[in-house]
Amino acid sequence: MDLKQYIKNVPNFPKEGIQFKDITPLIADGEAFYHATQLFCDYAKEVNADVIVGPDARGFIFGTPVATQLKLGFVPVRKPGKLPRETLTESYSLEYGENALSIHKGDIKKGQRVLIVDDLLATGGTIKATIKLIEQSGAIVAGIAFLIELNALNGREKFSTYPIKSLITY
Ligand code: AMP
Repeated sequence: MDLKQYIKNVPNFPKEGIQFKDITPLIADGEAFYHATQLFCDYAKEVNADVIVGPDARGFIFGTPVATQLKLGFVPVRKPGKLPRETLTESYSLEYGENALSIHKGDIKKGQRVLIVDDLLATGGTIKATIKLIEQSGAIVAGIAFLIELNALNGREKFSTYPIKSLITY
């Protein structure tokens, strides 16, 4: 199945010059969403993941079906102010803007093998912050999986020491 045909390119959203990759047609199609989930599950098994982490908010969409299918836990990495208990927090920059991410202390256990699942690798800022949160928790980043990777931004270079998988590249 060619997953790329389910991604819509939207020029100049949310800012002039950004080629926004809209994943909503893919998740609106049952077969395509299922197929992408199976590929993520295959990768989770390949890297022996025992927990899935997904960054706010599109990482939740792709990470949670992988977790439930494999009977693994899912740990959300969220924008600040959303998690009610004690958190670890990291700042990062986006292709378009600045933000910070938080994780609950103790939700990831020391020594767990984590698969990070997200919608898209652009600059890699989000994932860099996510990796720091996972490693501060004492866990191991077993792999990083994206639905889409934007090659032109060289985000992958930030993660040369980690196994990476992308289902679609531009
Ligand atoms: P980054 O931290 O730069 O790798 O990008 C983080 C997040 O921003 C991705 O997971 C996407 O949700 C979103 N994003 C960045 N660039 C784009 C784009 N061109 N199209 C769609 N989403 C994007």
